[in-house]
Amino acid sequence: MKMHLMKKCLRAARINRLIQPIACALADDKPLEMDRDACMRVLEAAHPDTGRSAIWAERLPERKKSKIRLDVIVPAYNAEATLTECINSVLEQQTQYEFRLIVVDDGSTDGTLREMKELAAKDSHVRYLSFSRNFGKESAIYAGLENARGDFCVLMDADLQDPPSLLPEMYGYVKDGEYDSVATRRVTRKGEPKIRSFFARQFYKLMSRISKVDLVDGARDYRLMNRKFVNAILSMQEYNRFSKGLFGWVGFRTKWLEYENVERVAGETKWSFFKLFLYAIDGIVAFSTFPLIISAVIGVLASTLSLGYLSYVLVKKILFGDPVAGWASSVSVDLFIGGVLLFFLGVIGEYMSKIYLEIKRRPIYITRETNIDHPVLSK
Ligand code: UDP
Ligand code: MG
Repeated sequence: MKMHLMKKCLRAARINRLIQPIACALADDKPLEMDRDACMRVLEAAHPDTGRSAIWAERLPERKKSKIRLDVIVPAYNAEATLTECINSVLEQQTQYEFRLIVVDDGSTDGTLREMKELAAKDSHVRYLSFSRNFGKESAIYAGLENARGDFCVLMDADLQDPPSLLPEMYGYVKDGEYDSVATRRVTRKGEPKIRSFFARQFYKLMSRISKVDLVDGARDYRLMNRKFVNAILSMQEYNRFSKGLFGWVGFRTKWLEYENVERVAGETKWSFFKLFLYAIDGIVAFSTFPLIISAVIGVLASTLSLGYLSYVLVKKILFGDPVAGWASSVSVDLFIGGVLLFFLGVIGEYMSKIYLEIKRRPIYITRETNIDHPVLSK
C-alpha cells in the first residue's frame, strides 16, 4: 500500500479504531485471522511512527480511564521572575493527570516568552501562545480557554499565588460530576495595602447590591471547570470581558474553597490602584444598569423639588409681594444641577462606549506565535 494511503487509513483508524482491517490489508492477510498483537506488529513494521500512533489510539480508552485530561491555563505578563518556578511546580503534579500547560504570553516586554520557549523545549506538556501586544488578563484567559481541549480546565496565575498543591482537592469535587467548577477565595488579604483591601471590599458589597451576579469577596481567578462550564464561558463572546462576573453569570454548581492569601514569590503586581478602579467600573457597567436607573431617579427628584420650590416662590411673590432674593444661592443650585447632569452624561457615555466597542467586533486577542497544534489564532 502506498505510504500516503496508509497514513490516511491510519488516520481513519484512529478515529474509528479499525486497526485490524488495515493491518490485514497491509499483510495481505485475511481479516479475523490476525490477533491484536499481530496487527500491531504489522503496523509498526510498516511505518514505525504512524504504527505507534495507531497503538496509542487503540489504547486511548484505557488511558482516559486512568488519567483525566486537564489543561492548565497560565496568563503571564512580564512574569519572567516567577514563571519557571510556577510551571515546574505544576509539572510536579504530573503523575495524577494527563495535562497540558497552556501559557499565554500577554505581550510581555521582558524575557517571559523566552522562558516559555525554553520550558516548552524541555517538556512537551508545555504549550505557549504569545499575543501581538498586551491585551490584558481577560483576553489571555479567553485565549487559553479557547485553545484548551481537556475535559477540565484550570486557570492559574503565573506568580504562585494560586497554590498548585490544591489541584487534587479541587479535582476531587468535580470528578464525579457533583460540581461543575471549583473556585477559590482568599480569606485574608495579607500583604495587600489596607486602603486597597478596603476599596475592594466596598466594591464587592456594591456589586452584590446593584447586580444580579453573585460576586464573592476575595474570589481569585484560580478555578477548575469542567467542559460544560468552559463551553458556556466561551459562548459569551463579548469584547468587554469581566470574567469574575461571567463565572457567576453562567450558573452551574460551584464549590468554593478558601485559603490564606499567599504572597507572590517575586516580581510586582501588574494592577495599580487606578487600573483596579477602571476594572471595577468595567465590572459595574458590564453587569448592572443600576447607574442609569439612579440617574433617572435623581432627575425626577430634582424636577419635583424644583417644581415645589417654584410654587413656593410664586405664592410668596403673589401673596406677600416679596422679590426673589439670593443670587448666590441660585447660582450654586445651577452649578450643582450642571455637575449632576455632567456626571450622569458621563455614566451614559460609559455605557455607550461599551456598545461602541462591542459593535466593532474586533478580535479579543491577536496571536503572534504559538506552538499549539491547530491553534485558534484570534476571535
Ligand atoms: N496578567 C496578564 N496581563 C496583564 C496583567 C496581568 O496576563 O495585563 C497576568 C499576570 O501575569 C498574572 C495574573 O495575570 O499571571 C495576575 O496578575 P497579578 O499577579 O499582577 O495580579 P494580582 O495577583 O496582584 O491580582
Ligand atoms: Mg498575583
